[in-house]
Amino acid sequence: MGFMSVLSQAQQWVKERVRAGDAVVDATAGNGADTLFLARAAGPGGIAFAFDIQAEALDNTRSRLRKAEESEADRLAPTTFIHAGHETMCEAIPSESHGTIAAVMFNLGYLPGASSAVITRTATTVAALDSALRVLRSDGIVTVVVYPGHEGGQEEADAVLAWATRLPSNVAQAVVYDFPQKKKAPYLIAVNKR
Ligand code: SAM
Repeated sequence: MGFMSVLSQAQQWVKERVRAGDAVVDATAGNGADTLFLARAAGPGGIAFAFDIQAEALDNTRSRLRKAEESEADRLAPTTFIHAGHETMCEAIPSESHGTIAAVMFNLGYLPGASSAVITRTATTVAALDSALRVLRSDGIVTVVVYPGHEGGQEEADAVLAWATRLPSNVAQAVVYDFPQKKKAPYLIAVNKR
């Protein structure tokens, strides 16, 4: 049996922590795979927030959820779509939810099938990670899938790793899930808030 992909491992770690009724965040909605996963994990009594700077991504995510709702409407968390950068997380998420978020998932890079020019950027990614830690509850998790293989991706991956590494261990515990034999392959960095 091989190891799980980085995307599946991110979902696995989130699944272990999110309970029905929780509040959750997809920081990079894209085509909505993680948003749907999070909406299922939080369930109808929970709430999900999905960020993307591209209207196309939010449309794709909305369609994906609508399709799932046809068969499992009563099993998904209501989802708020936020057409803004994830670096606005603290302002965009209502203050009453701050400190209650169980999981924030980031899948960096560009929207598959769309322009690779619209891409996550180091400065806004790191600002968003700081915000994610602020809105997270105690024992909540932030997962970040990084892509060192595309232009600017190595710099961004290095910055995310540096961000996680410098977190004091009484604030959060950081972990890296990587396939070292694969050069420039995506890998996963996760942080569990104390
Ligand atoms: N998780 C997605 C899925 O399941 O399809 C894939 C996400 S895709 C790799 C990265 C997404 O991040 C793109 O849709 C892109 O528009 C979005 N993005 C780029 N910069 C962003 C920012 N500052 N805030 C939020 N989303 C951003």
